[in-house]
Amino acid sequence: MSKPRVVILGAGFAGLTAAKAIGHDADVTVVDRHNYQTFLPLLYQVATASLAADHVAYPIRGALRKTGAKFRMGSPISIDHKNKTVKLDSSEVIAFDHLVVALGSATADFGVPGVQEHAMGMKNIHEALENT
Ligand SMILES: Cc1cc2nc3c(=O)[nH]c(=O)nc-3n(C[C@H](O)[C@H](O)[C@H](O)COP(=O)(O)OP(=O)(O)OC[C@H]3O[C@@H](n4cnc5c(N)ncnc54)[C@H](O)[C@@H]3O)c2cc1C
Repeated sequence: MSKPRVVILGAGFAGLTAAKAIGHDADVTVVDRHNYQTFLPLLYQVATASLAADHVAYPIRGALRKTGAKFRMGSPISIDHKNKTVKLDSSEVIAFDHLVVALGSATADFGVPGVQEHAMGMKNIHEALENT
């Protein structure tokens, strides 16, 4: 019997943990816009120049090596739930039986006055470097 096809969108902590957990029992494809995972808890050290940016970025392919999961660098642009396919910005269409959406979160200011104008976000390496 063929393995179920699982597409995991996002290779952060959640996506990689899912891939490692099911990689041997399913035909897994992981999608992320970067080819590296960012270790977000260490972004503070990058912003304060205690660590170089490449010290908090880990190759996704290396993390997946022993799992059997495939990796596609790109972003999903549409999901066809009826036909169970996801289209990437490269135009590649990947079919799935199960879809895991693990794309993280977006910075929110919860409407607190002044935050948008006077504070800086820090959810990726680019923002951490801007904060240095
Ligand atoms: C500065 C900072 C410090 C933190 N410190 C701690 C801590 O000390 N302890 C703790 O427990 N938690 C900490 N957290 C929280 C923790 O990092 C998050 O809860 C965790 O990263 C969430 O994992 P995730 O996989 O859901 O999302 P993420 O880790 O954000 O991963 C999402 C992935 O999806 C990818 N992605 C997003 N959008 C797209 C798209 N459109 N196309 C393709 N790929 C996309 C991203 O590239 C990323 O790889 C911290 C967070 C931050 C920002």
